[in-house]
Amino acid sequence: MARASRRATVDSILASAERACATAGVRLTAKRRALLATLLQQSQAMSAYELAEQYRQDHGESIPTMSVYRMLDFLAEQNLVHKLGAINKYIACAHISCSHRHETPQFLICDDCHSVSEVEVEAETLDTLGQGVEATGFHLRSRQLELHGLCDHCYKRAAS
Ligand SMILES: [Zn+2]
Ligand SMILES: [Zn+2]
Ligand SMILES: [Zn+2]
Repeated sequence: MARASRRATVDSILASAERACATAGVRLTAKRRALLATLLQQSQAMSAYELAEQYRQDHGESIPTMSVYRMLDFLAEQNLVHKLGAINKYIACAHISCSHRHETPQFLICDDCHSVSEVEVEAETLDTLGQGVEATGFHLRSRQLELHGLCDHCYKRAAS
């Protein structure tokens, strides 16, 4: 599993997001861009309600939660944000500035500090898992994994 670096600054990530949208032939409007910027500044996943509230604090402007959902859907389609279905929250993609193809994202969720890491799981591992699941007669709609546990920081704090 490789952890993506978050060294790139928010501005350069937003510039990459704009390029990705231009390449895809879609428009990263000022509001979508601002919402993505809000999410990029968080280390925790956020719900649409939390994002609407943060956006209001940052920009002094309220946007209806329905609009936040629509913008998040757009950003998720472009792989700029990911939805964590199990907790119904969103996180900015850790690979926006990367040039490699975006694989199905996998997530490590800390149940203590609620930080979320996007990790890459090898395609073969997912294939094996997928085949095992399909063999039970279950039909997978998504190969996204959301694994719960403790991040290293929280684990060490709990142990000390
Ligand atoms: Zn991603
Ligand atoms: Zn990457
Ligand atoms: Zn933690």
